[in-house]
Amino acid sequence: GFVGGRQSRHTMCHAPYRRDFRNPRMPDFSQWPLRPELIEAIAGQGITEPTPIQQASLADILAGTDVLAQAKTGSGKTLAFALGILSGLDAPSGVQALVLCPTRELADQVSQAIRKVAVRLPNVKVSAFYGGIPVRVHVESLVHEPAIVVGTPGRILELIDTGALKLEALKTLVLDEADRMLDMGFEPAILAIRKALPEKRQTLLFSATFPDAVRTLSKNHQREPREILLDTDTRSEHIEQLFFEVPLNRKPDALVHLLGQLQPAQALVFCNTKIDCQTVGNHLSKAGWSCSNIAAQFRFNLFTYRNLLEWLADPRGCPPILRSASWRSPTT
Ligand code: ADP
Ligand code: MG
Repeated sequence: GFVGGRQSRHTMCHAPYRRDFRNPRMPDFSQWPLRPELIEAIAGQGITEPTPIQQASLADILAGTDVLAQAKTGSGKTLAFALGILSGLDAPSGVQALVLCPTRELADQVSQAIRKVAVRLPNVKVSAFYGGIPVRVHVESLVHEPAIVVGTPGRILELIDTGALKLEALKTLVLDEADRMLDMGFEPAILAIRKALPEKRQTLLFSATFPDAVRTLSKNHQREPREILLDTDTRSEHIEQLFFEVPLNRKPDALVHLLGQLQPAQALVFCNTKIDCQTVGNHLSKAGWSCSNIAAQFRFNLFTYRNLLEWLADPRGCPPILRSASWRSPTT
């Protein structure tokens, strides 16, 4: 599991951009040739104005150009490519788009975000494939081919190798959170996956940061991409990310061990479900850590949230104990 780091930023962030009150004519989504069903679906989520990265990238994405887009976490990159993919769908003809994500959680979030945008389109199957679930289950689900596949590189490659996932009809490849995929060592898997894709395709690359390795990844997989580099995500440059692969049943002990080693003044632990939050919380309490649980059963009231933010902002105001907070991502 992750302790702190970018996983937490991803799930915590709401779009941190502001309406420009000096400009009374706000750009909206009608400036692009988008199907009304898509515009209605996002309006239903309260989304009417494009974020800066959407404003800067959508024209090229819709035109089928390769795009390399770097903008900080929470800036709305998912919707930018979701609109591109869904606009390009034509009559059922195999898997048309593949989105590669670094983690299961992100693959889940991204597939759900795409489904939300697709709610008004009839029969758009979006599948999420990642490890931790028997391959057999995914192979069986591929009997009915999805139009859009979202997944982690390892599992996608497995499904290609078994012959269950056929990508000859693919029109768009998305490398989402490219910087994290590189950090996690997915480059060889991405390269292998690319060999199963048609040469003629659109490749979109999204990243919160823009180290040289991302530029190289772009050079290797994109053709004359339009580069859109917005404000860099400075926070992430100061965050050390560690990844531990641990069998499910060893996770609680591994977490306790890790906390014992790192001795953090404060820590946030993210879990998938309320039950997990309780189990992990109980386990930490038994091990002598003091934790609070924040999960959806509290209806996520603003008071709890403010308290939490205050503790985080000022560790001195916080008792010298671990506060373990867990909540579901706002997007799931
Ligand atoms: P990123 O991938 O850039 O980190 P996300 O795509 O996950 O960010 O978007 C963060 C949040 O912003 C999501 O909850 C999403 O629904 C919301 N969002 C995206 N575009 C808009 C928009 N144009 N207006 C308001 N909210 C938006
Ligand atoms: Mg993203």
